[in-house]
Amino acid sequence: MNDLGRLLVTRIRADGPMRLSDYMAECLIHPAHGYYATRDPFGARGDFTTAPEISQMFGEMLGLCLAQSWLDQRAPSPFTLAEIGPGRGTLMADILRTIRAAPCMPEAARVHLVEASEMLRARQRETLAGTGISFHDRVETLPEAPLFLVANEFFDALPIRQFQRQGNGWRERVVGLDEEGNLAPALAPLTRYEFLERRIADTRDGDIVEVCPAAIPTASGIAGRIARHGGAALIVDYGGWHSLGDTFQALKAHQPVDPFAEPGEADLTAHVDFEPLAEAARAAGAEASAMVPQGVLLERLGITARAQRLAQGLEGERLRSHSAAHRRLTHPDEMGALFKVLAFHPKGSPPPPGLEPVTAP
Ligand code: SAH
Repeated sequence: MNDLGRLLVTRIRADGPMRLSDYMAECLIHPAHGYYATRDPFGARGDFTTAPEISQMFGEMLGLCLAQSWLDQRAPSPFTLAEIGPGRGTLMADILRTIRAAPCMPEAARVHLVEASEMLRARQRETLAGTGISFHDRVETLPEAPLFLVANEFFDALPIRQFQRQGNGWRERVVGLDEEGNLAPALAPLTRYEFLERRIADTRDGDIVEVCPAAIPTASGIAGRIARHGGAALIVDYGGWHSLGDTFQALKAHQPVDPFAEPGEADLTAHVDFEPLAEAARAAGAEASAMVPQGVLLERLGITARAQRLAQGLEGERLRSHSAAHRRLTHPDEMGALFKVLAFHPKGSPPPPGLEPVTAP
């Protein structure tokens, strides 16, 4: 067992089983042993690859989308250009390059990054060298100013809780110890939870549902600023409207592994529920768009024309890998359908281009 494993076993011996959300938080962002604190997980040699690491076209499309929304809102200056969970900083670099197409936008932008990992902050400083950056631990400290924000594969890294239905109550799936004293999943006693009453209608005995408590204040902090000062947020992640079933997974070197075997050494994620994000945005006074598949949004924003333009300068292996990247981002069998996009925008102004308002129920 590794250092973090021993630490967690000691804690469980003293304090009883842990919520899955506490376990996930320790594994991912523990300052000394956490997954994101100790490595750069991206790319072919890492544990997973994200859209901005696949092609510059991803950031270009999102950058154009934000630029148009900024122009539609009469080009507020100054404004906050923010990203939460910026990874290597690639997406923000592509956005900054793209918004140069909008006169005065780069000068008006103040770049703010919300990032938990000191190691990735250093990486982001390198990628964005020459740009003034303010770092934040959480969205609550972002300036009270117009906010244009992106989040790609951020919400899937936020800790979740899981509950298994039994009758009209629920048993929380927690992390305890097996007979050999190793970390292992366990079930907490049967309880009724006010916040799960609504799931009684769409689940059956034995079903598992997930909730992501930290997603709500994050969505609400973003949406509140957009409601008060204008702006737009683009949230991109894999998942759906609301979850059913166990989507908790651990990835190492692009392969699924046991999430309890080596804490802190695998990427832990869960599918993102977009419904609670949209509800939190509306409760904070902003509007949330309809959810759209990533492939559809990128096509609407013109990725195919951009891909053809970039292809003109390429041949051989570079052309093949460029075409593969285009397909990977957009095709329904690849990231195009599993990944979804939701936008927040101010009431009374249209959603950013490519996104649609929710039609009244
Ligand atoms: N958006 C990037 C990286 C996604 S990985 C890309 O598309 O490539 C998730 C990112 O969120 C990492 O930068 C990670 O360090 C950060 N992160 C994870 N949990 C966090 C938390 N609770 N608070 C702030 N940042 C977090």
